Amino acid sequence: MKIKFWGVRGSIPTPITTDQLKEKLILLAKKSSNQLCDLDSFIKFIHELHPVEFGSIGGNTSCVEIQVNNKVIILDMGSGLKNLGDSIFSQPIEKRQKEFHIFLSHTHWDHISGLPFFKPANDSDTQIFIYSPLPDLEERLIQQQNDKFFPISFHSLKANINIITLEKNKPFDLDDIKINNITLNHPGGCFGYKISHNKKSISYVTDTSFHELSNSQKDDVIDTDLDKGNTHILDFLKNSNIMIIDAMYGTDEIELKKHYGHSTAQMAVDIGNIVKADTIVLFHHDPDKNDIEITKMYSDTKKYFYEKHPDSRSDILLGYDDMLLEL
Ligand SMILES: [Zn+2]
Ligand SMILES: [Zn+2]
Repeated sequence: MKIKFWGVRGSIPTPITTDQLKEKLILLAKKSSNQLCDLDSFIKFIHELHPVEFGSIGGNTSCVEIQVNNKVIILDMGSGLKNLGDSIFSQPIEKRQKEFHIFLSHTHWDHISGLPFFKPANDSDTQIFIYSPLPDLEERLIQQQNDKFFPISFHSLKANINIITLEKNKPFDLDDIKINNITLNHPGGCFGYKISHNKKSISYVTDTSFHELSNSQKDDVIDTDLDKGNTHILDFLKNSNIMIIDAMYGTDEIELKKHYGHSTAQMAVDIGNIVKADTIVLFHHDPDKNDIEITKMYSDTKKYFYEKHPDSRSDILLGYDDMLLEL
């Protein structure tokens, strides 16, 4: 399975500002010591940096592409979906992907606003399947493109768009790919997904709160007395090879924001430890934090995790726009 992150931001698209970029460049110049004095050393310096250091975490909202067994599965259609569509349309017509399977967590704007800008949605040769357990999904998508808010209606998009209603908490088979869904803890409701193929699985649980788990301060708690809401999520996530998880807030913020339906980076990695995820991807970054603040939270979270679980073999990654993973 090939995974590409097209949007990792939560709530609202958040492009980097000129001032933030300047602050970043000054930090890089300090880090580079004398490596900026000639072009070759400068290029070497840039190549050795993490992409988030010389680039940006990215400002697009939730959208993750998984290529598996000649199928393209898309998790959410936030603003990152536009760039995915643009990359499809940058290829010659005969090579373009013509079929997409989109699994939707919920219909908050940051998870659906990319659809009207997804070029394949306006291509009459394209088939799009949009899956969700929401019984009224089509009505919601029609509302998003009501002429009071957008000039092109949902039904005038030229692609053949099929809305498929999934059974809640029941697996769905797409050829030999299994997709499970689970109800999450988020205002208005939300669903997580687990995509499994050839004994490998990727789980996607964003826009959910695990604060009850964090407050319980327990390790290895799968079979103990966690509240029911978390136990079924932990069971669902068990043995994920890659777990993409809501890590929006810092621990110092969650008390004030615990009803917003999001998690902290520390909760995310604690969950990853309990379910023994190989790779934990921190996702749905707070639009109120800039790259420097998010990378600081990431390094603090890794320090916290490996001090608490020195024997853990889980890898912790900071999701960023354009990040590629392979499973
Ligand atoms: Zn969201
Ligand atoms: Zn939401």
